[in-house]
Amino acid sequence: MNAFSPCAACGKPCCANYTVSIVGVDAWTIGKQLFLPLESFLITFPAAEHNESGFVLAPGGPRHEIALDKLGRYRKGNPCIFWIALQEGYGRCGIYPYRPLVCQTYPAFQQEEVVALRDDVYCPARSWNLMGMDVTLFRRRLYRFRMERDLYAYAVQAWNRAVEDSAAPRSLSQYYAFLMNLYEHLDRVRQSIPAERRQQLLSHWGERGPGAPNPLVADLTPRPASPEWQRLLENLRDTVDGYIVAWHQSERPQSRAAA
Ligand code: SF4
Ligand code: SF4
Repeated sequence: MNAFSPCAACGKPCCANYTVSIVGVDAWTIGKQLFLPLESFLITFPAAEHNESGFVLAPGGPRHEIALDKLGRYRKGNPCIFWIALQEGYGRCGIYPYRPLVCQTYPAFQQEEVVALRDDVYCPARSWNLMGMDVTLFRRRLYRFRMERDLYAYAVQAWNRAVEDSAAPRSLSQYYAFLMNLYEHLDRVRQSIPAERRQQLLSHWGERGPGAPNPLVADLTPRPASPEWQRLLENLRDTVDGYIVAWHQSERPQSRAAA
């Protein structure tokens, strides 16, 4: 929370009133950093048929998304499972350094290359002002969020193809194990790039404009101007595809037994 953040004096209705839908890297980060099984803080909910981040657990089955669970019964108004209540209605995020990207970027969004503020938020009126915000920080987070959404969509589609091919249902625990292992591999790709270069490469994602297709699946013509970005795209694709092949092979005897 920076010095200009209005969140310090707010009752944080944002942490209670949304379905906090997250991507793979969020689940991996929280699970790994807090030593928590994903089942202990995630819920699933139905995803639309065309949702690229909707995963299946059985061939031809419905799609699901993941979100943070809530304290008490899952309903609008109940706080996020990581909410820590303090006195007089105040509280705070219990996982602030590891909070999901959707929380890190709220209430900003990317309008072309520009950081803009949503007008459909729970924030007290006029609490956010671009002039008082660290816009560079929000832009970085929005670019990272964009990249992580595309990467998660690519990973989910690879998982879905493997489930459809195997003709055997999978459990939610297997999906969570897949996520934790895959993102461990993806982190090695991330760590192989120096931090300052990583940010420059993320800019290629953000500068593509919100409506541009996922560069991990799109036929990028003309080829990206940056060979380093092209290499990163190939590394990420190879990591996901290679992991899926290995996982699929390790699952095969079980698939045959279940058939
Ligand atoms: S993770 Fe933290 S910031 Fe995000 S909704 Fe939960 S309590 Fe709020
Ligand atoms: S509702 Fe807005 S001002 Fe209040 S904590 Fe959430 S983001 Fe901050």
